[in-house]
Amino acid sequence: MTAPLNDTHDPSLRSWVESAGARGTDFPIQNLPFGVFKGPRSGDQERIGVAIGDQILDLTACIRRQLLAGLPDDLAEACQKRTLNRLMALGPPAWSALRWRISELLRDGESGQAWLRPAAEACLVPMPSVELLLGVAIGDYTDFYASIHHAANVGRMMRPDNPLLPNYKYVPIAYHGRSSSIVVSGTPVRRPSGQTRTEGADAPVVGPTARLDYELEAGFFVGPGNRLGEPVDMARAEDHLFGVCLVNDWSARDIQAWEYQPLGPFLSKSFLTSVSPWIVTMEALAPYRVPPAPRPAGDPPPAPYLDSAENRRAGAIDAALEVALVSARMRQQGLAPIRLSRSNLQHLYWTPAQLLTHHASNGCNLRPGDLLASGTVSGPEKDQRACLLELTWRGTERLELPTGETRAFLEDGDEVILTARCERNGYATIGFGECRATVAGAPSSD
Ligand code: CA
Repeated sequence: MTAPLNDTHDPSLRSWVESAGARGTDFPIQNLPFGVFKGPRSGDQERIGVAIGDQILDLTACIRRQLLAGLPDDLAEACQKRTLNRLMALGPPAWSALRWRISELLRDGESGQAWLRPAAEACLVPMPSVELLLGVAIGDYTDFYASIHHAANVGRMMRPDNPLLPNYKYVPIAYHGRSSSIVVSGTPVRRPSGQTRTEGADAPVVGPTARLDYELEAGFFVGPGNRLGEPVDMARAEDHLFGVCLVNDWSARDIQAWEYQPLGPFLSKSFLTSVSPWIVTMEALAPYRVPPAPRPAGDPPPAPYLDSAENRRAGAIDAALEVALVSARMRQQGLAPIRLSRSNLQHLYWTPAQLLTHHASNGCNLRPGDLLASGTVSGPEKDQRACLLELTWRGTERLELPTGETRAFLEDGDEVILTARCERNGYATIGFGECRATVAGAPSSD
């Protein structure tokens, strides 16, 4: 089941944290995403926090001040860990109870707990004063290929007459990614070196990639795992999903083109993957759930194990995604980042529940904190292409920047910024924060 709507989604709720009511904030009281931070003092340990406006509610401090009293012991214990994995393992009833309590603590007005405000205020930390961390020990990372528009565009470059391979509409395609090189937003991406072969050449050369690209994706964090050998039904799939972050699956297209056959991408992807620090919970996303994009006439229906009435009703997420870029020269000239494309999670051919159920369908055990990424979330329109490979059509249609510079792929000093917002009439607008990183030069060889 998708998480139901409740009082925590009420659009009339206001927080006494003033910045949570500011126009355009990603973190109003209806959002309450989880993350892990460190600081502001050196020597401070990593703590779990919840974003509210431009502040963080420190959950360890809340527990010390008895603000979460009455919640089950294992939940209180999980809130004091240095990563979110224990909390993720507890499942929807525990997450929901915690969300309810935090919402009450931060509420203004009669439905809140005004007498607790002074104690809760003492648990706030200004977000700019701390370091936001990768809050999850990610055991395994799987990157799907769930946008049919992305798959068709990339396929068309290689096989103009037959862009989609015959399996695409039956089976959610994925490769197993590298979890050790997943980093939090803000970590620079170093231009990787590798083997590349120019068309027509006999042998490859080794050197820095000339075709560094971003991929705009969403990441779904696994909550409670499943036992080895025990698949997860569609009806239970969302009970195993904790929340969603932004993912940038940096890709070296020239390395990828040479290495990917026959087993798929390897070093062209594993050098770095960036994620946003705040994880928006599935419960926070309840108001923005929508039916999956209709399958074109003639497409096969999903196999019974990937189908459910609930998935047809509300399996997709209406989240608008954007990519922006600022070059070093733009930064020097004080120019704002320019938007390269915008897309929506609704465009995916497969829903998060289908990705999870398919992943576990052979009995593969997923574990709390595992990351399932969507794959590049391109939409049907040209301005919805969610990586440079598609936007510049393999570098043949260069983009123009406001400085007069052009781009086929990323240059050193370019900063890529991913954002996402959920909007729906009659509900609050919530955001995901940012996933950003700047391209640094290749490591020097001496
Ligand atoms: Ca990808």
